[in-house]
Amino acid sequence: STEISLKDIDQVANSSFPLCMRHLFEKLRETHHLKHGGRMQLGLFLKGVGLSLDDALAFWRAEFSQNVGSERFDKEYAYSIRHNYGKEGKRTDYTPYSCQKIISSTPGTGDHHGCPYRNFSEENLRAALRRMGVGERPMEEVMERVRNRHYQLACTLTFEAVHGTSCDSGVNHPNQYLSLSQRAMQ
Ligand code: SF4
Repeated sequence: STEISLKDIDQVANSSFPLCMRHLFEKLRETHHLKHGGRMQLGLFLKGVGLSLDDALAFWRAEFSQNVGSERFDKEYAYSIRHNYGKEGKRTDYTPYSCQKIISSTPGTGDHHGCPYRNFSEENLRAALRRMGVGERPMEEVMERVRNRHYQLACTLTFEAVHGTSCDSGVNHPNQYLSLSQRAMQ
Protein backbone atom coordinates (compact mmCIF):
# COMPACT_ATOMS: atom_id res chain seq x y z
CA SER A 1 0.00 0.00 0.00
CA THR A 2 1.04 3.61 -0.54
CA GLU A 3 2.61 5.44 2.35
CA ILE A 4 3.32 9.08 2.59
CA SER A 5 5.82 10.84 4.79
CA LEU A 6 5.71 14.50 5.77
CA LYS A 7 8.73 15.51 3.72
CA ASP A 8 7.14 14.16 0.52
CA ILE A 9 3.65 15.45 1.08
CA ASP A 10 3.81 18.55 -1.15
CA GLN A 11 5.32 16.64 -4.02
CA VAL A 12 2.77 13.81 -3.73
CA ALA A 13 -0.08 16.33 -3.47
CA ASN A 14 1.10 17.98 -6.65
CA SER A 15 1.54 14.78 -8.64
CA SER A 16 -1.07 12.39 -7.29
CA PHE A 17 -3.89 13.98 -5.29
CA PRO A 18 -7.28 14.15 -6.99
CA LEU A 19 -8.65 17.67 -7.42
CA CYS A 20 -10.86 17.55 -4.28
CA MET A 21 -7.79 16.91 -2.10
CA ARG A 22 -5.46 19.24 -4.00
CA HIS A 23 -7.94 22.03 -3.39
CA LEU A 24 -8.15 21.37 0.37
CA PHE A 25 -4.39 20.98 0.60
CA GLU A 26 -3.74 24.25 -1.24
CA LYS A 27 -6.32 26.14 0.85
CA LEU A 28 -4.75 24.80 4.03
CA ARG A 29 -1.26 25.87 2.92
CA GLU A 30 -2.60 29.26 1.83
CA THR A 31 -4.85 30.17 4.78
CA HIS A 32 -3.44 27.85 7.48
CA HIS A 33 -6.99 26.88 8.30
CA LEU A 34 -9.81 24.58 7.18
CA LYS A 35 -13.29 24.30 8.57
CA HIS A 36 -14.61 21.07 10.03
CA GLY A 37 -15.81 19.46 6.79
CA GLY A 38 -12.48 20.11 5.11
CA ARG A 39 -10.46 18.84 8.05
CA MET A 40 -12.47 15.62 8.01
CA GLN A 41 -12.28 15.06 4.25
CA LEU A 42 -8.54 15.81 3.95
CA GLY A 43 -7.57 14.34 7.33
CA LEU A 44 -9.16 10.96 6.69
CA PHE A 45 -7.73 10.89 3.15
CA LEU A 46 -4.22 11.46 4.56
CA LYS A 47 -4.80 8.79 7.15
CA GLY A 48 -5.86 6.43 4.34
CA VAL A 49 -2.66 7.27 2.50
CA GLY A 50 -0.67 6.06 5.48
CA LEU A 51 0.22 9.30 7.27
CA SER A 52 0.87 8.32 10.88
CA LEU A 53 -0.98 9.99 13.75
CA ASP A 54 2.23 11.73 14.90
CA ASP A 55 2.89 13.05 11.39
CA ALA A 56 -0.74 14.11 11.05
CA LEU A 57 -0.57 16.09 14.32
CA ALA A 58 2.70 17.73 13.22
CA PHE A 59 1.25 18.54 9.79
CA TRP A 60 -1.95 20.17 11.09
CA ARG A 61 -0.19 21.92 13.98
CA ALA A 62 2.38 23.48 11.63
CA GLU A 63 -0.43 25.03 9.59
CA PHE A 64 -2.97 25.92 12.26
CA SER A 65 -0.43 27.42 14.66
CA GLN A 66 0.28 30.09 11.99
CA ASN A 67 -3.37 31.06 12.16
CA VAL A 68 -4.86 30.33 15.58
CA GLY A 69 -1.62 29.69 17.50
CA SER A 70 -0.29 26.36 18.73
CA GLU A 71 -1.95 26.62 22.13
CA ARG A 72 -5.38 26.92 20.61
CA PHE A 73 -4.54 24.17 18.15
CA ASP A 74 -3.64 21.81 20.99
CA LYS A 75 -6.78 22.78 22.90
CA GLU A 76 -9.38 22.84 20.13
CA TYR A 77 -8.17 20.87 17.13
CA ALA A 78 -5.73 18.14 18.16
CA TYR A 79 -8.53 16.16 19.79
CA SER A 80 -10.47 15.72 16.54
CA ILE A 81 -7.34 14.54 14.72
CA ARG A 82 -6.69 11.92 17.37
CA HIS A 83 -10.41 11.17 17.18
CA ASN A 84 -10.12 10.48 13.43
CA TYR A 85 -7.40 7.98 14.22
CA GLY A 86 -9.66 6.27 16.76
CA LYS A 87 -7.70 7.52 19.78
CA GLU A 88 -10.49 9.49 21.43
CA GLY A 89 -14.20 9.23 22.13
CA LYS A 90 -15.83 6.01 21.02
CA ARG A 91 -12.55 4.99 19.40
CA THR A 92 -14.28 4.40 16.12
CA ASP A 93 -11.76 3.88 13.38
CA TYR A 94 -13.02 6.38 10.82
CA THR A 95 -12.53 5.44 7.19
CA PRO A 96 -11.71 7.89 4.39
CA TYR A 97 -14.67 9.23 2.42
CA SER A 98 -15.66 7.76 -0.94
CA CYS A 99 -16.43 9.91 -3.99
CA GLN A 100 -20.12 9.27 -3.52
CA LYS A 101 -20.02 10.62 0.01
CA ILE A 102 -17.93 13.63 -1.00
CA ILE A 103 -20.08 14.45 -4.03
CA SER A 104 -23.25 14.34 -1.94
CA SER A 105 -21.87 16.65 0.76
CA THR A 106 -23.13 20.23 0.83
CA PRO A 107 -20.32 22.71 1.55
CA GLY A 108 -21.41 26.14 2.79
CA THR A 109 -19.72 29.53 2.58
CA GLY A 110 -16.06 29.34 3.50
CA ASP A 111 -16.01 25.55 3.15
CA HIS A 112 -13.56 23.89 0.77
CA HIS A 113 -14.64 20.28 1.02
CA GLY A 114 -16.89 18.49 -1.47
CA CYS A 115 -16.15 17.57 -5.10
CA PRO A 116 -14.85 20.47 -7.24
CA TYR A 117 -16.36 18.93 -10.39
CA ARG A 118 -19.72 19.47 -8.77
CA ASN A 119 -19.11 22.60 -6.71
CA PHE A 120 -16.72 24.84 -8.65
CA SER A 121 -17.90 27.43 -11.16
CA GLU A 122 -16.98 26.54 -14.74
CA GLU A 123 -14.31 29.25 -14.76
CA ASN A 124 -12.67 28.07 -11.54
CA LEU A 125 -12.82 24.45 -12.62
CA ARG A 126 -11.15 25.20 -15.95
CA ALA A 127 -8.41 27.16 -14.19
CA ALA A 128 -7.81 24.36 -11.68
CA LEU A 129 -7.67 21.73 -14.42
CA ARG A 130 -5.25 23.83 -16.45
CA ARG A 131 -2.97 24.03 -13.42
CA MET A 132 -3.08 20.22 -13.20
CA GLY A 133 -1.87 20.08 -16.79
CA VAL A 134 -5.11 19.14 -18.57
CA GLY A 135 -4.89 20.22 -22.22
CA GLU A 136 -7.61 21.97 -24.21
CA ARG A 137 -9.12 18.92 -25.92
CA PRO A 138 -9.46 16.68 -22.85
CA MET A 139 -10.67 19.78 -21.00
CA GLU A 140 -13.75 19.95 -23.23
CA GLU A 141 -14.45 16.26 -22.61
CA VAL A 142 -14.18 16.80 -18.87
CA MET A 143 -16.55 19.78 -19.05
CA GLU A 144 -19.06 17.76 -21.02
CA ARG A 145 -19.15 15.10 -18.29
CA VAL A 146 -19.57 17.84 -15.70
CA ARG A 147 -22.52 19.33 -17.59
CA ASN A 148 -24.12 15.85 -17.54
CA ARG A 149 -23.38 15.60 -13.81
CA HIS A 150 -21.04 12.64 -14.30
CA TYR A 151 -18.49 13.94 -11.83
CA GLN A 152 -16.58 10.71 -11.30
CA LEU A 153 -16.24 10.28 -15.08
CA ALA A 154 -14.96 13.85 -15.28
CA CYS A 155 -12.39 12.97 -12.61
CA THR A 156 -11.45 9.77 -14.48
CA LEU A 157 -10.86 11.74 -17.70
CA THR A 158 -8.73 14.18 -15.73
CA PHE A 159 -6.68 11.31 -14.37
CA GLU A 160 -6.17 9.97 -17.88
CA ALA A 161 -5.19 13.38 -19.27
CA VAL A 162 -2.75 14.10 -16.44
CA HIS A 163 -1.11 10.67 -16.40
CA GLY A 164 -1.30 9.87 -20.12
CA THR A 165 -2.70 6.44 -19.35
CA SER A 166 -6.15 4.88 -19.32
CA CYS A 167 -8.05 4.33 -16.11
CA ASP A 168 -10.37 1.43 -16.91
CA SER A 169 -11.66 0.98 -13.36
CA GLY A 170 -12.90 4.57 -13.17
CA VAL A 171 -12.49 6.75 -10.08
CA ASN A 172 -14.71 5.93 -7.13
CA HIS A 173 -12.51 6.90 -4.17
CA PRO A 174 -9.87 9.61 -3.68
CA ASN A 175 -7.49 7.10 -2.09
CA GLN A 176 -7.94 4.81 -5.09
CA TYR A 177 -7.11 7.77 -7.38
CA LEU A 178 -3.89 8.31 -5.45
CA SER A 179 -2.76 4.68 -5.55
CA LEU A 180 -3.56 4.41 -9.28
CA SER A 181 -1.55 7.57 -9.80
CA GLN A 182 1.44 6.27 -7.86
CA ARG A 183 1.28 3.02 -9.84
CA ALA A 184 1.04 4.87 -13.17
CA MET A 185 4.16 6.87 -12.35
CA GLN A 186 6.38 3.91 -11.40
FE1 SF4 B 1 -12.51 13.74 -5.44
FE2 SF4 B 1 -13.99 11.72 -6.32
FE3 SF4 B 1 -14.61 14.26 -6.97
FE4 SF4 B 1 -12.49 13.05 -8.02
S1 SF4 B 1 -14.67 12.47 -8.30
S2 SF4 B 1 -12.55 15.13 -7.19
S3 SF4 B 1 -11.75 11.82 -6.30
S4 SF4 B 1 -14.66 13.34 -4.93
